Amino acid sequence: MPDYISALDLFTIGIGPSSSHTVGPMRAALLFAEAVKANGQLPHTTHIEVKLFGSLGATGPGHGTSNAIVAGLSGITPEECNPDDVLTAWDSAVKARKWFVLNHEITFSESNFSYQPLIRLPKHSNGLRFTAYSASNEKLLEQTYYSVGGGFVEADHELYRPERPDVPFHFESAVELLEICAREGKSIAELAYINEAFIHGELALEIKLDAIWATMQHSIEKGLATRGVLPGYLAVTRRAADMAEQLANSEDEVSNEWLQAYAIAVNEQNAAGQRIVTAPTNGAAGIIPAVGYYALKYKNIDSKKISHDYLLTAAAIGSLYKRNASISGAEAGCQGEVGSACSMAAAGLAAILGGSSEQIENAAEIAMEHNLGLTCDPVGGFVQMPCIERNAIAAGTAVSAVRLAMLGDGSHKISLDTVIETMRQTGLDMSSKYKETSLGGLAVNVVEC
Ligand code: SF4
Repeated sequence: MPDYISALDLFTIGIGPSSSHTVGPMRAALLFAEAVKANGQLPHTTHIEVKLFGSLGATGPGHGTSNAIVAGLSGITPEECNPDDVLTAWDSAVKARKWFVLNHEITFSESNFSYQPLIRLPKHSNGLRFTAYSASNEKLLEQTYYSVGGGFVEADHELYRPERPDVPFHFESAVELLEICAREGKSIAELAYINEAFIHGELALEIKLDAIWATMQHSIEKGLATRGVLPGYLAVTRRAADMAEQLANSEDEVSNEWLQAYAIAVNEQNAAGQRIVTAPTNGAAGIIPAVGYYALKYKNIDSKKISHDYLLTAAAIGSLYKRNASISGAEAGCQGEVGSACSMAAAGLAAILGGSSEQIENAAEIAMEHNLGLTCDPVGGFVQMPCIERNAIAAGTAVSAVRLAMLGDGSHKISLDTVIETMRQTGLDMSSKYKETSLGGLAVNVVEC
């Protein structure tokens, strides 16, 4: 039986700007550093070469990959790092011409990193290869990793993963999920809670869900209060704070505009490399927090219900995307990132507004159906345009999908499973130009100035 994909896998506290190009590579770099140490080769290592393949080679610099790898080699984790330390890691290493792998000093040069955008490793388009060398240039250890989206990492060699117990309610499709809900007389959130508590323990689960929701809220509030220009030569001006000021002074009904401001606030924080929750990726990190915050502010839903029923329902649906299609922009285009997040948010909102399991499934289906085919074409390789605004639009789509679903009784022709499979097939058919390589779409039609 395949492992259960937990809410705590899909929602991780980390840093921007990208789960696949920042968080995943940072974790891979730390895994490699630990492997060198475990093999007893750390004292003999004088330098490390890093090769970035495919999408990582194409858009890695704009996504902060180099900073993330250098930080990861030193032993820093996305969960516990100071985001500002990561933002300066590459420049610090280049300037000092040395760096630390865990606590061991090595020489460092820009030429130790090479970018191979046109080479796609067979397993995944986000490939990283690390090679540790001795002073005599002897190869001490070489390992290849893959950042497969949402901060998840795989490798050519077997990675140690703590064994996960079989959960009480295992499901691999929306049909199975709805069948279990009907049989057990429980909601999706109740089933998910039982599964999650079985894996993590109730206390740890409670603490982590609350921390995830608190971090989501903080990223909204910080984003709404921060002005300035985002990193990178595009010099994109932050606008969430200006939006908030205008909306606070408006006499019109502006809940939808606030919803969009919340999403933009998070994605601006993400683009600035700050603390956010990967949900289920960083590029799409604004949608689930924004819809949750909207429910808090405009639907009188309390925080406990959001940190539990909303997030757990969203994650149960997200696990279907991760298992049966992809949440990686490099694999499925933006439908895999923003589409999945939009669908997850719709499911979560329908749940906390009192929707039945069928209405929840319907809301998730509607939300993804109208994201099918969405390409990934970040301008300049930065997770900014179209990503930031796209989260705002998708947050609105999620709310609209819930309104439509709640006006029906949950019966509908196209199932969520069908839409997920369609997304998978569409992702396979999609040209690699539109899968986080910045080689097509807006990325080649926006004039750099
Ligand atoms: S366009 Fe979509 S998939 Fe691509 S980086 Fe932006 S948010 Fe992620």
